[in-house]
Amino acid sequence: RSKDAGGGAYHAYEPELHTQAEERRVLEMALRAALENDQFHLLYQPVVQAGTGALMGFEALLRWTHPEHGNISPAKFVPLAEEARLIAPIGEWVLRNACMEAARWDSPIRVAVNVSPEQLHNPAFASFVATALQDSGLRPERLELEVTESVFMREGTAAVQTLEMILDLGVRLSLDDFGTGYSSLGYLSRTRFSSIKVDRSFVQGASKGSKEAIAIIRAVVALADSLGMATTAEGVETEDEHRMIQALGCTKVQGYYFGRPLPVLEARGLATRESGGTSVAA
Ligand code: C2E
Ligand code: MG
Ligand code: MG
Ligand code: MG
Repeated sequence: RSKDAGGGAYHAYEPELHTQAEERRVLEMALRAALENDQFHLLYQPVVQAGTGALMGFEALLRWTHPEHGNISPAKFVPLAEEARLIAPIGEWVLRNACMEAARWDSPIRVAVNVSPEQLHNPAFASFVATALQDSGLRPERLELEVTESVFMREGTAAVQTLEMILDLGVRLSLDDFGTGYSSLGYLSRTRFSSIKVDRSFVQGASKGSKEAIAIIRAVVALADSLGMATTAEGVETEDEHRMIQALGCTKVQGYYFGRPLPVLEARGLATRESGGTSVAA
């Protein structure tokens, strides 16, 4: 709308800006209330080994059920929670919950938890992770924290130190949505990631025959291999995509083809059923 900014445009969109600000304020208050009123829950999406489909772990994905508006996507409310400085308490709730749940699984598979950059800029975060592990009894190597490249955008911040402290606990790190953010690769040699997650946009591109997307996936796989990291392809939806991703050398796969994000009891059942022969390498 602001594109057709003519003479009278200012007055035309002012009320809308006001409404947006108002809407944010209301949503912020609702987010605060959500924590107190148990409106959050986690779904668990399977992460499997490419080729065999063996269950390697689950990624915990946050959901908010608003009393009036129903389910609100994390893509919508996580950025808002970050701005409103609510991501710390929400993130702590996610971490504690996911650790408690994974500790119940009769299985050595891992749980992956998304961590926002805001959480990592708080130096107390590492001790919070330690406490969550202690209280749940989850072995550190069964926890994987997913961070995005944007963590490394602010120079000389506490985030890198926080990541080091987390690694010292024995927790694994993976690099989420790789290729969509900050493009300097220096941090890859300084921070010990166990795996790189190739963003769904590249998987989609490659499946549509984009030479560029294919070249990028190849390069990421080669880079990860040479740094001793695994690669996880995100958003694999079809058998063809799985075949292609496997041919390109990705070690792990996540996507609707292998399983949608599942309610906690379904994930628990799957974790326990598949525990027997599951290898937890990589
Ligand atoms: P993400 O970490 O990259 O998670 C993967 C997203 O892709 C999830 O969306 C998942 O449901 C979706 N997905 C998985 N497989 C497929 C597929 O085959 N096709 C398609 N179209 N989508 C697929 P979701 O659950 O809506 O989460 C969106 C984003 O919100 C996440 O992206 C993550 O960045 C953020 N998020 C989710 N939970 C949390 C959390 O607890 N804390 C923080 N800080 N962020 C979270
Ligand atoms: Mg993730
Ligand atoms: Mg991701
Ligand atoms: Mg993604």
